[in-house]
Amino acid sequence: MDIQQACLPDHMEEECAVFGVYAPGSDVARMTCFGLQALQHRGQESAGIAVGDGERVVIEKNLGLVTQVFNEASLAALQGDVAVGHVRYSTSGGGTWEAAQPHLSAIDDVQIALAHNGTLVNTQELRDFISSCSIELMAGTDSEAAAKLIGKYTQETHFLREGIARAMKKIKGAYAMVLTSPDTLYGFRDPHGIRPLSLGELPCGRGYVLASETCGLDIVGARFVRDIKPGEIVRINREGVISYQGVESHKRASCIFEYVYFARPDSVLDGQSVYEARREMGKVLAREAPVDADLVLGVPDSGIPGALGYAKESGIEYSDGIIKNRYVGRTFIQPTQELRQLGIRLKLNPLPSVLKNKRLIVIDDSIVRGNTSKKLVQMLRDAGASEVHLRIVSPEVMWPCFYGIDTDTRSQLIAANMTHEQMRAFIGCDSLAFISLEGLRASLPFCEHPQFCEACFTGDYPVEISPSTARDSFKTKESFADELENENKLNDTVSLH
Ligand code: SF4
Repeated sequence: MDIQQACLPDHMEEECAVFGVYAPGSDVARMTCFGLQALQHRGQESAGIAVGDGERVVIEKNLGLVTQVFNEASLAALQGDVAVGHVRYSTSGGGTWEAAQPHLSAIDDVQIALAHNGTLVNTQELRDFISSCSIELMAGTDSEAAAKLIGKYTQETHFLREGIARAMKKIKGAYAMVLTSPDTLYGFRDPHGIRPLSLGELPCGRGYVLASETCGLDIVGARFVRDIKPGEIVRINREGVISYQGVESHKRASCIFEYVYFARPDSVLDGQSVYEARREMGKVLAREAPVDADLVLGVPDSGIPGALGYAKESGIEYSDGIIKNRYVGRTFIQPTQELRQLGIRLKLNPLPSVLKNKRLIVIDDSIVRGNTSKKLVQMLRDAGASEVHLRIVSPEVMWPCFYGIDTDTRSQLIAANMTHEQMRAFIGCDSLAFISLEGLRASLPFCEHPQFCEACFTGDYPVEISPSTARDSFKTKESFADELENENKLNDTVSLH
């Protein structure tokens, strides 16, 4: 394994968030900027806003966090009645300026800007088709292909709604998209509803908002109206909100991992509070995997509600014990390899005064490659913990995700390559337990549509994956344990501590 692979993130990483607003007379660019800041946890590599001013669509995007990309001057230049925005974290298409969104498509007089959360699984087929129509592609991303396809079909049909609907019949995969023309906002979602998209209304009839999560509605004072339905297109302009069924909906398959890790705890997905869901996961885990200990800790931030739930159910005291540095994040300026090797210590620091001679139950959201968990356990032992019992509020991640989440191939997923006891020994904890899939589902009692994508746990994919992608991604490696050990030696060699 080379050093670059050794530095891959050890988490399921969300790839994007979208935001859209139709509000004539309001500062739509600034509202979008606020919305994107609320959704920044879903992507930190690039940010962009496109504004429609009635005649044209103007766009500003760049690499970096929202606050790095936009300032007073750039927002002042984005004047109009309607806007869409995007934040991105991705490995597909690379972290280039061209791959940043929204994507502009201008074919003859059809000018649109598109922002996409998710991943299309038939991108190559789409790209081949678009190239055969002599339409140039610059970015190499699935989202650009979707934007060009919508532009082409709109040019042919003369109706944007029809252009979107025709494109939805051709694209496959996970998508929650917002799109602006010079005067109208659109939002649409894939037939399974894999990635979330919510509609909100601004006070005093000022307009409407679309956002990947409800926390994006809250920040601009919008009232939650409803979630966009699978396969639905909503059109928002001076006529109000009009709904169309763009493609026939299929069996719902909302990403269950949104509740575990991706979504912000103050968001509500399909009627279910993410915070309450995480607390409930902790309670379920306490019943499924009890252990005698002195303290329950959560790995900040996503593990905290689960730890509170575990503590309540078990009667074992909850305590802070790991402090998160809130000002270290992923930015477009990649730190040096040496700093990246510090990994967990850049973000988390233990409290030895709390942990010394204590038997700990530590709640975390997931284990992907296992290296972060290994370092976490060692860090807690170094801080004086006498026992560390790891409890995970997701089932074992056994399969890669192809629907908008950056995961490794199967060969790099620890649970796909080791037995439970091998994992425990590798991580170095005293005991290890994962919530059951039934337990995870039971933690979402208020979800209005409890039909989920659970493919990363089960391998049961709601949208078919192309055979060539599957062949490479599903391979497992017999030498996985050796590889992880080598990687660990490499980390030890070059780390600064
Ligand atoms: S495979 Fe996992 S992470 Fe990907 S959409 Fe399905 S549940 Fe979510």
